[in-house]
Amino acid sequence: MKTHKGQDILKCYYDRFPGKAQLYFAPGRINLLGEHIDYNAGYVMPAAITQGFWFAIGEAEENEFSVYSATMDEYVHGDFSSISKSKGWKNYILGVIHQFIEKGHSLKGFHAVFGGDLPLGAGLSSSAALECGLAVALNDFNSLQLSKKNIAFLCQKAEHTYPEVKCGIMDQYASMFGEKNKILFLDCIHIESEKIEFPTTHSIVLINSNVKHNLNDGGYNKRRMQAEEGLSIIQKKFPQVLNFRDASDDQLNRVKNEMHHEIFQRCKYIIEEIDRAKKGAHYLKSGDITAFGKCMYASHEGLKNLYEVSCPELDFLVNESSKFMEVKGARLMGGGFGGCTINLIESQHAAIVAERISNSYLEHFKMNASVYMVSPGDGAHHIKG
Ligand code: ADP
Ligand code: MG
Repeated sequence: MKTHKGQDILKCYYDRFPGKAQLYFAPGRINLLGEHIDYNAGYVMPAAITQGFWFAIGEAEENEFSVYSATMDEYVHGDFSSISKSKGWKNYILGVIHQFIEKGHSLKGFHAVFGGDLPLGAGLSSSAALECGLAVALNDFNSLQLSKKNIAFLCQKAEHTYPEVKCGIMDQYASMFGEKNKILFLDCIHIESEKIEFPTTHSIVLINSNVKHNLNDGGYNKRRMQAEEGLSIIQKKFPQVLNFRDASDDQLNRVKNEMHHEIFQRCKYIIEEIDRAKKGAHYLKSGDITAFGKCMYASHEGLKNLYEVSCPELDFLVNESSKFMEVKGARLMGGGFGGCTINLIESQHAAIVAERISNSYLEHFKMNASVYMVSPGDGAHHIKG
């Protein structure tokens, strides 16, 4: 895959379009703990990373837009008065433009070029980086002064309506609100976060199984529907339960016979993961990385056996990680069905351990795993030229 940095994107813009461009950056994200629970009223622990997408934006003819993906070497063009759904990556762009218009904002005609250094479909939320990058650029370009939170909501809505992935708010929130060296402990009901300093003694290492997931192929949305079904069964018996955060293991066990076994397992995972994320935040704040890492391994077990969004490649990688004392925790990250594992490794051993895990992977699957060392970085912003 072609990767680009900010200066490449500006050059790419000036090679194609006339006039002056402004440059913006929006990051991908990691998530240490709390998977698939942003849309289940839980708590999650994401951070923006220093990899992401750069967007160059400048003026075009009135009412027209043209966006070029340097990664795909493809354009999407259109007219604000007749936006409609397209296919693949274009829907992420069209969905964001559509949301601005839907909310009553009038947009100036624009050209944009984007690209970056995020692998797509690897669980690092290239989709949110794409949406947020374009949205911050459009917000500034049109002097709209939308708040960061409103931009995150707008982008989430764009993903729901055009690519039709019913994602929670975590990815867009992290891409907008990330901060250098900070993990966000995000309350997904109140959409407020607390910042926790990430310890320098440990490194965050992503190992990409290179099994591509595609979140709009149904598995993700199906989990969402199953979770809703489970919650409504719990609520029939316990009307005081407003959301999964209110539900207990005990309540779930008492309605076990009223739901399909698969729905029971989904609910069990959600209730346990909400609890793990709460405990995890406490451990991270108090510097107990060993206890935090155990929560990560337990999260993977739940994602594998109860929520069933893992695959043999991800299970293999987590199992290999668990053989090293230097790895404090590991689990699949993101929507699942492929993509990356996230590993918390003692910093001085991180590179060598990751190499050994990826070597075992190559030996076993005859396929390369990619290793990315990542660190918490700043959220979407303008880059002064
Ligand atoms: P993730 O967000 O974890 O990377 P998703 O399946 O949510 O995975 O989003 C990936 C999709 O985002 C890709 O299939 C593609 O449509 C779009 N996308 C990501 N990066 C780019 C890019 N550089 N150019 C065009 N589209 C992209
Ligand atoms: Mg995504």
